[in-house]
Amino acid sequence: MVSQLNVRRTILIVEDEPINRKMLENIVKDSYDVIFATDGLKTIDVIRENSDVISLILLDLMMPDMDGYEVLEFMHNDKILKQIPVIVCTTERESEVRCFKLGAVDFISKPFSHPMVIRARIDRAIELREGRGLIHATQNDALTGLLTHDFFMEYSHFRDMHYATPGMDAIVFNVNRFHLINELQGRRAGDDVLIKIGDSIKHIARDRGGISGRGGADEFLLYIPSGSDYDELLKEIGRGLEDILNNSRVYLRMGIYRNVNTDISVEHRFDKARVACNSIRGNYNIQSAIYDEDMHDKEALNERLINDMARGIKERQFTVYYQPKYAIQGDRDSLYGAEALVRWEHPELGLLRPDKFVPLFEDNGLIHQLDHYVWDEVSKQVGEWMVNYDLKIPVSVNVSRVDIGAPNLEEEIFTTVQNNWISPGMLNLEITESAYTENSDQIINVVKSLRERGFAIEMDDFGTGYSSLNMITSLPIDILKLDMQFVKNIHEGNKDMKMVELMIDIARSLKVKVVAEGVETKEQYDLLKAAGCDVIQGFYFSMPCVPKEFEKLIEKENGELQREVEEALQ
Ligand code: C2E
Ligand code: CA
Ligand code: CA
Repeated sequence: MVSQLNVRRTILIVEDEPINRKMLENIVKDSYDVIFATDGLKTIDVIRENSDVISLILLDLMMPDMDGYEVLEFMHNDKILKQIPVIVCTTERESEVRCFKLGAVDFISKPFSHPMVIRARIDRAIELREGRGLIHATQNDALTGLLTHDFFMEYSHFRDMHYATPGMDAIVFNVNRFHLINELQGRRAGDDVLIKIGDSIKHIARDRGGISGRGGADEFLLYIPSGSDYDELLKEIGRGLEDILNNSRVYLRMGIYRNVNTDISVEHRFDKARVACNSIRGNYNIQSAIYDEDMHDKEALNERLINDMARGIKERQFTVYYQPKYAIQGDRDSLYGAEALVRWEHPELGLLRPDKFVPLFEDNGLIHQLDHYVWDEVSKQVGEWMVNYDLKIPVSVNVSRVDIGAPNLEEEIFTTVQNNWISPGMLNLEITESAYTENSDQIINVVKSLRERGFAIEMDDFGTGYSSLNMITSLPIDILKLDMQFVKNIHEGNKDMKMVELMIDIARSLKVKVVAEGVETKEQYDLLKAAGCDVIQGFYFSMPCVPKEFEKLIEKENGELQREVEEALQ
């Protein structure tokens, strides 16, 4: 790139040994103009006088009068001079860290043995510095001043090429449920937290001779030589944020890929650190995790599932199970609807539960394709049952938070039911509560237009998403689905039972129905019935089952209805 620009640049060679001066000159003179300084004190003058033309300085560390460190220090403290890249020429590898801290961009070992390599490093340093000036705006994140994701990766790669420090750690930091800070304390507070973390990360990188960056919204990246005490690192980053981060919902997570394998790309090394970081998501007791064999296996499995998905859809390996919902406040418990739950009959891995692949597909956006497939399957099935049994059993499908972002989602789902000759009223849509708190404006709009099309909206996993009462009352929903974790622990008069009663009260005041899921025992059933819960789903009635099994439940319901009609006629 340097030569393409067709401008001859000037290199300052600072070196007191004539033989070394000559060697360096020979390495660069075909493309660069060269000026010299032979001792420390003169060097400063030469740099000052020529600062506007010097593209790079090759600096000897050992000189009479003033050594190279002092030159570096002098430049480092000058706003203009510190912009000039300096490559240090030295016999001592130990001096590297100190020079780095003083702003040196690279090192060349003496004696000079590989002219081609030296030349490439000189070209590259100039290239990088000049490219840097042009793209400075996007290179640094505006809020924290850290390197942005792509530049971070590039610089880490560059660092490896030039300073082959054995043993580097790739580390990812994430603020668990960061969005809550924005929501509860305002955006300013959120920004302050990010800036503080950014400052700490910068410090750590500088102290340890590494690189720091911002990976995304609340993700931070650190590439440092191995050997740090990880608990110390966490403490250092959380310092000053104890009030905000020592919370069971909002806290700092750290994933470490230790002693990286340099045969894989930098990007991939940080993927591994991220895998470790995500492995402790939602686990307040553990705040850091090191990438290990198990994670490696899991990662390999995930990769395989991602690869196999398209084929799975094509070959219809995904099947839909149906779990009935019963209305429990009438004279008898009557079949009210069902939830569609997907399973993967993988040809080699066997029957896979959704927790093996749904979160995975959510992470990489593939879920939308799968969900579309499920909506279509379910619409077909519902249409078939309506014809065969003359009974309206609305089925709920899960709409992932990721689907909400799809363009024309309402049109897509509407077309799906239309193509299968059923009305939108026969396909209910379950959306998890946390999706509302993460992206409230967008989701409210989407949900509104879905309701206008005639779909009923169920808020899934209610009680886990931390929506405020204020928010709930303004949400366009038809049904609240209490999360299983509350139902699981209810007993007469205990705390969870009180929570459940409270949620049922909220639903009543909003005039929406309440569904309790995960109901397994008679005790739970009785308590929920007494509390006024409308509908129940859970093993107490039935496990999710294949269509053939579910049809038996429909037939049973039809039998009951028949009997009721006959009784009424008698
Ligand atoms: P979910 O929507 O909360 O679904 C309820 C889960 O509870 C289901 O697990 C169901 O089998 C299980 N369950 C039902 N009754 C009981 C009970 O009495 N006790 C216990 N312990 N569990 C019960 P499943 O089928 O493994 O699904 C797990 C999650 O995967 C679902 O949670 C849902 O979030 C997701 N999922 C399932 N199918 C789909 C789909 O087609 N699309 C999307 N996006 N997500 C899906
Ligand atoms: Ca659900
Ligand atoms: Ca649920």
